[in-house]
Amino acid sequence: MKLTDPVTGLKGIGPAAAKKFEKLGIRTLEDAIHFYPRDYVDLTHPYPVADAPYDTACVVKATVWSIGQLRRIPGGRTLLKVSAGDDTAGLVLTYFNNPYAANALKPEQEYFFCGKFSGKMTQREITNPTVIPVMPEGAPGLLPVYPQTAGLTSRTVARCVSNALAAVGDALEDPLPEELVKKYRLGTLAQALRTIHAPADWEAARHARRRLAFQELYLLQLGLCQLRGRSRTLSGARISGGSLKEFFASLPFSPTGAQRRAIAEIQADLAGESPMNRLLQGDVGSGKTLVAAAGMLLAAQAGYQSVLMAPTEILARQHAATLDKLLAPLGLQTALLTGAVKGKARTVALAAIADGSAQLVVGTHAVLGDAVRFANLGFVVTDEQHRFGVRQRAALAAKANHPHILVMSATPIPRTLGLLLYGDLDISILDELPPGRKPVKTYAVGTDLRARMFGFVEKQLAAGRQAYLVCPVIEEGQSELQSVTEYLEQAAKPLLPGRRIGLMHGRLKPAEKTEVMRQFAAHELDVLCSTTVIEVGVDVPNANIMVIENAERYGLSALHQLRGRVGRGAAESWCILVSDHDGEEAKKRLEFLCSTTDGFAIAQFDLDNRGPGDFFGSRQHGLPALRTADLMKDSRMLEYARSEAHALIAADPALEAHPALKAAVSRLFADEGSMN
Ligand code: ADP
Ligand code: MG
Repeated sequence: MKLTDPVTGLKGIGPAAAKKFEKLGIRTLEDAIHFYPRDYVDLTHPYPVADAPYDTACVVKATVWSIGQLRRIPGGRTLLKVSAGDDTAGLVLTYFNNPYAANALKPEQEYFFCGKFSGKMTQREITNPTVIPVMPEGAPGLLPVYPQTAGLTSRTVARCVSNALAAVGDALEDPLPEELVKKYRLGTLAQALRTIHAPADWEAARHARRRLAFQELYLLQLGLCQLRGRSRTLSGARISGGSLKEFFASLPFSPTGAQRRAIAEIQADLAGESPMNRLLQGDVGSGKTLVAAAGMLLAAQAGYQSVLMAPTEILARQHAATLDKLLAPLGLQTALLTGAVKGKARTVALAAIADGSAQLVVGTHAVLGDAVRFANLGFVVTDEQHRFGVRQRAALAAKANHPHILVMSATPIPRTLGLLLYGDLDISILDELPPGRKPVKTYAVGTDLRARMFGFVEKQLAAGRQAYLVCPVIEEGQSELQSVTEYLEQAAKPLLPGRRIGLMHGRLKPAEKTEVMRQFAAHELDVLCSTTVIEVGVDVPNANIMVIENAERYGLSALHQLRGRVGRGAAESWCILVSDHDGEEAKKRLEFLCSTTDGFAIAQFDLDNRGPGDFFGSRQHGLPALRTADLMKDSRMLEYARSEAHALIAADPALEAHPALKAAVSRLFADEGSMN
């Protein structure tokens, strides 16, 4: 059989079962053999029945003594008791609602029983255990435990997988070059797959996993290497000879030392022979926009256009306004291009981009459109990069002849992941906030304190300040609009009587969003009641207080970003995390956020305690999903895979000489489009 054949070709899988397998993402034989166990049950060291620990899953090996009668018990349920034991103690197997359980058991036979023990010292019990017959042909090893779905047990999945493996047999081609397999002692793909599904012991399982993880990282690196395609190219844009004197003089404040340093680094890169590929990392409020603006000005002075791509409409508009304010006095023209820019305005913008009269283009994904032609693009900036996939960045870069690239991010990225996402990337860090900023005072409160807390918000409003209210997370079956409106009517309005409250959510049309933001920025609104669409980048210095409902539902980095919307002026500012979750874990996380404003420490904390919506657990980083490799834990393997991938791409850029690898790489990246 072929890898692409459907699993229905296997024995025992009809249309009904196929539907269930599809829920697990298994359609073809290939899907099946790459559906790895999530864990194993160790059959190599069963407990003597007398020593089996209580309340944790474990395995015993015991002989069935006698099988009882099926009984009906209240509630329409059935009960079946089986007695078994070894030479250390007796054991009662209890089956609820499993009238056929006895069919799998024969008296006098020996089985492995897996499950949690309960009962008394004299009478051990195990309820609905997993049963595995003891094979005469010697000791079995580890039993795979597969992710399950309704109607498919781990054993059914196991049978499908092993049939698929047997059916595919020699048709399994190993994409890895032989030299690599030898060099890193990886073993063949066929071996690894057979082993991961039925390892003899833990060591074998680890070895198989290592092989599969290496392959995955290697394919990933090959793909990234190809997408990047920047190895040793010359930049099409040499940007030198400009001056920033006038720019610095025009600012209402003096740049921080960190900003000056980053600008100098960018200036040097732009003048270099190869294209810049730089990450500008700086906590919220550290002033990244100004640094980008300096680069854009230098580009314009050398006759090149710049483009800034932002993840949302609101941010794009805000960036356009900010950059226009900074750069229009120096003679630069800005064009805005987003999904909402339509009709005449769009035609005008496209023309200005095409004829080069707009030196600066700001927009959303819309700037990637085919209709967008630049006259002479030299400098590409993306903001809040993790919202963009690697492909999209590559698409933007493709609109020019090896342009300089600057990626701005407020999320500190560990080195390993940075390498992966950006390859040979240079990093500038803004580790200094503009002077006079006071840290946002952060408190976690329970919902019982909501009224008091709103009293405090009201005091700030009375003093002429503004507030953000981040609404509760949307519940299942509820629309975003319902959720926001309900919060507005039931909490915000009654608790802040007479205040001008604006609503912001994803259902608003772009023009409506812009209008709400304009009103809030102009202080025509006191309060902005919003979903997390205000998450990144929004800048209204007079707003000094933020309330975040359901705070426990967010990753700390996300909360930190949200909190960065306040504390932008010189005044004292507050962030109040409302949560009724009294789990220790949630408490610990929120308390940590209250105790520090160090974005790097917060990201590290998120990493160490993978909480909800964390950066690395989610697919926010725009990479294909990995099955076996762990970007954090396998960092050494990642480095090997990376250098091997670089070497191969240098020798065979299009992988023409390695068709199996080429096919495997494109499969891995095939679903990336759906990730953003
Ligand atoms: P972020 O790094 O979060 O994108 P922004 O670029 O939005 O930060 O800057 C945050 C705020 O700080 C803006 O209002 C900006 O005008 C202001 N700002 C930037 N640099 C300085 C500086 N050197 N001194 C004072 N204010 C600054
Ligand atoms: Mg920003």
